Amino acid sequence: MQTKRTIIISNRLPIRIEKQDGKLLFIPSEGGLATGLGSYYKKGGSIWVGWPGYIPETTEEEQLIREELARHNLIPVFLSAQELEDYYEGFSNEILWPICHYRLSYAVFDKSYWAAYQQVNQKFCDATLAQHITEKDEIWVHDYQLMLLPQLLRQQNNYLTIGYFQHIPFPADEIFRCIPWRNELLKGLLGADLIAFHTYHDAQHFLNSCLNILHLSPKNNSVRCRDRRVHVEVFPMGIDFEKFEQLSKSADVLSRVQALQEQYQNRKIILSIDRLDYSKGILERLAAYENLLQTYPELRNRVVLYMLVVPSRDNVAQYKLLRDEIDRMVGHINAVYGSDEWIPITYFYNSLSIEDLSALYVAADICLVTSLRDGMNLVCKEYIASKSQQQDGVLILSEFAGAAKELPETIQINPYSIDDITEAIHLALYMPRREQQQRMKSNITLVKKFNISHWVKLFFNRLHEIKREQKAHA
Ligand code: UDP
Repeated sequence: MQTKRTIIISNRLPIRIEKQDGKLLFIPSEGGLATGLGSYYKKGGSIWVGWPGYIPETTEEEQLIREELARHNLIPVFLSAQELEDYYEGFSNEILWPICHYRLSYAVFDKSYWAAYQQVNQKFCDATLAQHITEKDEIWVHDYQLMLLPQLLRQQNNYLTIGYFQHIPFPADEIFRCIPWRNELLKGLLGADLIAFHTYHDAQHFLNSCLNILHLSPKNNSVRCRDRRVHVEVFPMGIDFEKFEQLSKSADVLSRVQALQEQYQNRKIILSIDRLDYSKGILERLAAYENLLQTYPELRNRVVLYMLVVPSRDNVAQYKLLRDEIDRMVGHINAVYGSDEWIPITYFYNSLSIEDLSALYVAADICLVTSLRDGMNLVCKEYIASKSQQQDGVLILSEFAGAAKELPETIQINPYSIDDITEAIHLALYMPRREQQQRMKSNITLVKKFNISHWVKLFFNRLHEIKREQKAHA
């Protein structure tokens, strides 16, 4: 008898392939998702299907990659440069990303993007089916690049067990309905048995879309699709708490913390870390920091904004413009308010090692998250996990980040209000240590308990429960 296998499917495999001096290097991902799912896809005949992040130069090289990845239970879906441009950069990042982050005017509804999106979702389906999937297996599809995949798989076998998780927000139905292919996308998702989001609002928006676009009436957070009931539920994603906790205690990280403290002496460090993206509210943050220095001149030379922006999509026009504007504002603030002894903003457009990230989290007095929309925001949870030793520090968190719903003991802001951000920073700078600790302790308890392993376990338990109920009512 065949045993149950877990099939994870995501746009990217949890590995990076690089070619150095003609030799292929396979670098495993350190991301939270890879860690959380590690114990599932690595056992027995379980697998992870996804793009390996590399375009092979020859068929021999493709075969070599296939064989090497198979040794780690990874199944590659190879994509051409054109497919990547139209399915990934195009449909996923120029249509779904802006729509799901409420930036309707940034969406480019190009028909060739749609054709590529359908074609690549079909490719993922074929690659998965080639693994001889049966109803004994459990399939978990991840994220917005693969919204058509649940239904494509379902068409092949109505009895499959399929879960879907959306890592980015799901917008209000009035925004989602602008997509010319909204019906197809919704029907694609409804091929799953369980459709999950980070927040209650995301789930409600999806259900409203089913009602107002497809005219399917939701009942008890579920939708009836022919012979199946599809459940729409909330699973806020956690982080690998232990990893960040351990790092924050390591001698290596602590020596980096000391170096940061020496560099910034007695100045308070306000930390922000995000990818270059218009959803992160980076310009609003800079405007608020300037407002702070103007409104409270006594803070000059006593604070520093340490801003790390991780390079992302900067070949796309909107992202390049954003990057230029960040450069301009940082230059302006440093030139106008800086002095011989003090530079108000330390800004890097770079990515850092996990040890340097950890040191920044430990050293920072404030972590400032100003997302205009964010599925969850993991940076704020990593900051909390890194504070499990001293249990101090203040988290200022946008009410538009998914994490805000889970972490009430933070200073929550409306990032569209520059005054709101300014006052929150001022409040955080003067928050008594005892209050910081009370709030941080409660945040630590939550982030520790609802960690990434807990999230994965809850999701699979619920998926199995739904399947059992379906069988009982068949
Ligand atoms: N990060 C990283 N290298 C860096 C800076 C950040 O790998 O130099 C990671 C960070 O630890 C976090 C992720 O990038 O896990 C950002 O996740 P988040 O949910 O905050 O935002 P996203 O980029 O997914 O929108």
